[in-house]
Amino acid sequence: MPVRRKIIAGNWKMNKTATESQILVADLLEKLNKFDGAEVVICPPFTSLVSCQQALGKHTEIDLGAQNMHQETSGAYTGEISAAMLKDLFVRFVILGHSERRQYFGETDEIVNQKAHTAIKARLRPILCVGETLSEREAGKMAQVVTKQVQASCAGFTEDDWSVSVIAYEPVWAIGTGKTATPEQAQEVHALIRATVEKMAGKAISDKLRIQYGGSVKPDNARLLLNQPDIDGALVGGASLDAESFVAIIKNACQKEEIS
Ligand code: PEP
Repeated sequence: MPVRRKIIAGNWKMNKTATESQILVADLLEKLNKFDGAEVVICPPFTSLVSCQQALGKHTEIDLGAQNMHQETSGAYTGEISAAMLKDLFVRFVILGHSERRQYFGETDEIVNQKAHTAIKARLRPILCVGETLSEREAGKMAQVVTKQVQASCAGFTEDDWSVSVIAYEPVWAIGTGKTATPEQAQEVHALIRATVEKMAGKAISDKLRIQYGGSVKPDNARLLLNQPDIDGALVGGASLDAESFVAIIKNACQKEEIS
């Protein structure tokens, strides 16, 4: 069984000016204190990428990610940002298909899939978000919805494409609501996602794929969630805006569960 290095990413959403971002990065670096027990990614707004990069300087314990990009490589798409533009700012990861993009900006699995292929061609690593709404869960459709999202968002992936990709399971009902999936609920869906990828691409690939959980992850629930066998990291929204709580999540996530 390959060892999957934990990956904790902070999605800052539409928060923090460029100046505020720089302060947060400095605070994170100080509190992380060279901790390298997990891969750590911050995804500030586009307008903060440069100031974050400057604040990171030569530090390698935090990688830079973006929250979105356009599926086309360039052209007449007013207000949009391309993969090459991100790459040029030393961005390594890009969140694609976040439920807020799907809900407010009409992103479909097909668009997410196009974006993923464009990102990978530009040597960006996609963090592909999937997850059911509360009504879908209550209607007993969680497995169907999540399986379809994984199949459609990752359609046409080669072995190399899988090797640079991360999937984030984010139940929509748990995002920004303070409701967290229990470790058992999350593990069930993560195992389902891994089994779906195994059917698409084979066991060697699915064993290596990192699957993050996202949805109201906080310092006090991170350890139990991330001790589940198929949970390989977290995508953190609200709690990533505060250096103390984000660093506590990162450190807690890397602790083994104590067996009493
Ligand atoms: C997110 O936006 O990806 C997220 C999980 O948000 P929160 O942690 O605030 O629920």
